[in-house]
Amino acid sequence: PKIIVAIDGYSSCGKSTTAKLVAKQLNYPYIDTGAMYRAVTLYFIQNHISLTNPKEVENALAKVQISFRRHPELGRNDTYLNGLNVEDEIRKMYVSERVSEVSAVAEVRHALVAQQQRMGKTKGIVMDGRDIGTVVFPQAELKIFMTADPLIRAQRRQLELMEKGDIVDLAMILDNLKTRDHIDTNRAESPLRQAEDAIYIDNSFMTLDEQVELVVRLADE
Ligand code: C5P
Repeated sequence: PKIIVAIDGYSSCGKSTTAKLVAKQLNYPYIDTGAMYRAVTLYFIQNHISLTNPKEVENALAKVQISFRRHPELGRNDTYLNGLNVEDEIRKMYVSERVSEVSAVAEVRHALVAQQQRMGKTKGIVMDGRDIGTVVFPQAELKIFMTADPLIRAQRRQLELMEKGDIVDLAMILDNLKTRDHIDTNRAESPLRQAEDAIYIDNSFMTLDEQVELVVRLADE
């Protein structure tokens, strides 16, 4: 029987990389919910939306349409905002610096959680984020809570950015991860926390293959 795999955890702990490969092995669709919050953040930055004005936020959210489409050559699942491919833009540092602030707004969460729940209607899905096992799919059959040492996470992130030609100082990345984790953990609306029935994985000293194998094995149980 097809199941829901919910992967939550701290910033840049390799959730997405693992989730993507797990989805491939299970032959399930994969949804990166962080990309959805990043796309909303990009829209809010571009349109100078004031987070303290609920009406403005609601109106803006009504104009935001997020979807995922397969890149024909790269084979990756790209994020689209109102019909435009924003996959590269949403990973940039100026979006990372604002995303947790935007994600803490209740109206933003309600809109995105509703869309995520619709996406999971047909079973057999891998979704990663911060509140998948606690809020989006509390009934998920498999919940993973991932983490890794902050410095190791920052180094992995730096490498990822470097591969895209984005040179960012390690201290700046580390600072961004810590700030995001702090905001994500302490916000009033669905804060990041481990679901009671989630399996805890610290992958600081695990290879990607080991992580994928472990999660796939747990999914098959
Ligand atoms: O997963 P990623 O690091 O790309 O997520 C970016 C930010 O989006 C997180 O730091 C968090 O503020 C927000 N987020 C969230 N809930 C999710 C996924 C991401 O609040 N389910």
